[in-house]
Amino acid sequence: MKTRFSMALLACAPMIAQAPALGTPAIEARIDALLKQMTLEEKVGQLNQVSPGIPFGPKGERIDDAAMVASGQVGSMLNLRDGAHAAKFQKLAVEKSRLHIPLLFGLDVVHGYRATFPIPLGLSATWNPELIEQTSRVAAQEASAQGVRWTFSPMVDIARDARWGRIAESAGEDPYLGSLIAKAFVRGYQGERLSDPTSILACAKHFVGYGASEAGRDYNSTEISERTLRQVYLPPFQAAVNQGAGTLMSSFNAINGVPASSNAFTLDQILRKEWGFQGLVVSDYASVRETMAHGIANDDATAARKSFLAGLDMDMGSNVFLPELPALLKSGAVPPARLDEAVRRVLRLKFALGLFENPYPGPAPTEGPLTPQVRALARRAAEESFVLLRNEPVKGSPLLPLKAAAGQKIALIGPHADDALEMLGSWAIRGRAEDVVTLRAALAERTTREKMSLLTAKGTEILGGDESGFAKALRVAREADVVVMALGEKAEYTGEATSRAHLDLPGNQQQLLEAVAATGKPIVLVLFNGRPLTVTWAGQHVPAILEAWSPGNEAGPALVATLFGDVNPSGRLTVSFPRSVGQEPLYYNALSTGRPVSPDMDLSQPPRGFEASRWVSRYIDEVNAPLFPFGHGLSYTSFQYSPVSVSSPTLSAAALNDRQGSLRVSADLTNTGTRSGTSVAQLYIRLRGTSVARPVRELKGFQRVALAPGETRKVEFEVGKEALAFWNMEMKCLAEPSALSLWIAPDSASGKAAEVDITP
Ligand code: BGC
Repeated sequence: MKTRFSMALLACAPMIAQAPALGTPAIEARIDALLKQMTLEEKVGQLNQVSPGIPFGPKGERIDDAAMVASGQVGSMLNLRDGAHAAKFQKLAVEKSRLHIPLLFGLDVVHGYRATFPIPLGLSATWNPELIEQTSRVAAQEASAQGVRWTFSPMVDIARDARWGRIAESAGEDPYLGSLIAKAFVRGYQGERLSDPTSILACAKHFVGYGASEAGRDYNSTEISERTLRQVYLPPFQAAVNQGAGTLMSSFNAINGVPASSNAFTLDQILRKEWGFQGLVVSDYASVRETMAHGIANDDATAARKSFLAGLDMDMGSNVFLPELPALLKSGAVPPARLDEAVRRVLRLKFALGLFENPYPGPAPTEGPLTPQVRALARRAAEESFVLLRNEPVKGSPLLPLKAAAGQKIALIGPHADDALEMLGSWAIRGRAEDVVTLRAALAERTTREKMSLLTAKGTEILGGDESGFAKALRVAREADVVVMALGEKAEYTGEATSRAHLDLPGNQQQLLEAVAATGKPIVLVLFNGRPLTVTWAGQHVPAILEAWSPGNEAGPALVATLFGDVNPSGRLTVSFPRSVGQEPLYYNALSTGRPVSPDMDLSQPPRGFEASRWVSRYIDEVNAPLFPFGHGLSYTSFQYSPVSVSSPTLSAAALNDRQGSLRVSADLTNTGTRSGTSVAQLYIRLRGTSVARPVRELKGFQRVALAPGETRKVEFEVGKEALAFWNMEMKCLAEPSALSLWIAPDSASGKAAEVDITP
C-alpha cells in the first residue's frame, strides 16, 4: 500500500529513546539567555495555564486575568473565544510583561474547529490515517487563524469499555490501529514544521490508562499491570511522541493507586528516561488539585510538589503551581534544576512555534460559508466513517442500497433526522448548526429531484418517555414503501462525564422502533451515537442498520449518497458492539483463559446439568460473542478472501530479534459482487507457547483495497519483529519461539489461519 505512514510499529512500546528533537541548537541558546533573565516568579508563571473568566485565586475567587498576564504570571491560556479575544491577552503579554514572553493559546480542537468532521470514533472507522491527517490539517488551519497554536488532541486512550463516554473521542480498542491514527493526527496538526503559522501543537492525551477506568465510570481509578500498560495503553502515546508530538496531557485517573498527574513512573521513567520526550506535559483540568481527592496529598503545597517532582510541567486550571512552587523552591523541597527543566520545555515550544516573532494570528479570516473543498473533505470523511452493520434481504435482495424509483414513498422517522446540532458531536468546539445539512434536508432534495415522496415524523425525542409522536410516525410508516429511522444518543451525552450503565437506545426510541417495525414495513435504521450500543433486538429484527456516529457538517449528503448506493460503505468497526452491558469491557484482543469456549458449543441456552459447555468461561444468560465484532463492516458488494499463504513455514526468533528475519503473508482478495467496493483486509496474529499468554487475535496490519466487480488483487504484508515481539516474562520486548497463527480476514472474528513455527 502506498502510504506516508510507517505501518511498522513495534508491538510493544520500546524502552529506547526515539523521540525527535523539538528544539534546535539556536533555540536552546535563546532559552539559555532568557532563563538567565527570569525571576523565580516569572519562571513559575510560565507553568501556569488559566481559562479567562474562570475563578482563579487562592480561595477560588475571581482574579483579574489581564493583570496576571501583564505581570508574567501566566504562560498559557485555554478556551479563548476567538482570535480577537486571544490577541487582547497576547498584547498584554508581549507589550506589558517584563520579558515580553508570548502566551500559548490552547483549545480542544478535536474533530474540527469550525468545519466539523465525524467524531474521532467515527474517523477511526475509516481505517484511513491519510484522511484523518487531512481533516486535522484543516482543523489546524482554521484554529491557528484564530490564534490557537495548541490543540488538546488527539485522545489516544485505548478504549475497551462502551460504558465509558469518552470512547467517542478515541480511536477504539486496538493499540496498532490507534498508534497509526495517533501519528496521523499529529502530522495533520503539526504539519511539516511547527514554525509554519498554520501548524498547531498536538497534545496526546490522557497519559495514561484513562480508558481503563473501572466499570467504565469516568474519572474512576485503574488497575493496570506494567505489562498491559506497556503492551496496550502506552503504544499510541509512544507513536505520537515518535511522530514529534509537542505535548502530552496527564490523565485524571490513578494507576494502581498513584494519580497519573503525579506518577513518576509514567511521567518520568517511561516518558523521559525511556522515550526521550522533550516536549511539555500539561495536567488535565484541575488534576493536580484532584490528587488531594485521590488521597495522596492533604494540602495544595503537597499536591503541587508531588506532581511537579513526578515530572508534570504545566498546571491546567488547578491554581496550585503558581501560589505554591515559589515557596517550595525557596525551601529546597523542589530543586531549581527541575524548575528550569519545566520552563525550558514551555519556552522551547514557544520558540519552535515562532511565537516570539509572530505572536498574533494573521488578519481574521473573512466570515463566509465553509468552502466547497472543506465540505468535500467533511463529506468524504463522513462517508468513509459509516459502517454498514447489517443488510438483510427484503423480497429477495438486500434492503440497501435503496432504489431511487420515481413514485417511491420513503418515511423518515426519528429525533436525529433533522437535528443539525446533534450531527456535530461531542467536541464541536466552534462548529455551527447552520453549517450542517441534515438527513431530512438532503433526503428532501433527493426525493424531490427524483420524483419520490418523503413523509416525515419525529416520532419521539432522544430522551424522555413522551409517546404522543408515535401515532404520526406509525401513520407515515404505513403509507411508505420503506422507512428510514434516525435514532441514537444525544451528542451531549457522549464524551467526557457521560458514562452509561445502560447501552440501549435512550428514552423510548426502542419502543418507537418496535412499534414501527410492527407495521411490517422494511426499516433502515441509521444510528447516531458515540459508543457501541446494545442494539441486539434491531440486530435480529431490523433488516438494515447503518452506523453513522456523529457525522459532522455533511451528515445528510453523505448519508443520502450512501443510502442510495452512490457511495458504497467501507467503514469498519474499531470497537466491539456488545449484546448486553454485562459483557463489558468487551474487546477482541483478549486473552484466551484456561477454559475457552470451543466453536461447537451453543451458548444461546443456559447449560444443563453437567454438560461440557457449563464449565467454560461464559455467561449462563448471554453468549460471549459480540453483536458486531471489531473490524466488522459490510459492503453493497461481496468479497472473497483466499486461504492465507506464507513465504516460509518457519521463522527463527533469534533472527527476528536481530531484525534479520521476516515473513511475507498474502491472500487474494476478490470482489465477487456486481458493484465496485472497498474491503479492509486485516492481518491478525496469535502466538502460542510463549512465556506469557498472548491475545486470541491481534491486529498487525491492514490495507484498504478498492476492487471493481470481478477484480482480484493480492494483498501482502511483511511480518517481522514489529509484529511479533511482545513484553515477555522478563519484561523484555522480544519475539519468542512459539506457534504463530496468521489470518488475513475481513474482520476479527472470521477467516482461516495459516500456521508458522517460530523456532529458537
Ligand atoms: C478534559 C480534557 C480537555 C480539558 C481542557 C478536561 O476536562 O478531560 O480532555 O482537554 O478538559 O478542556
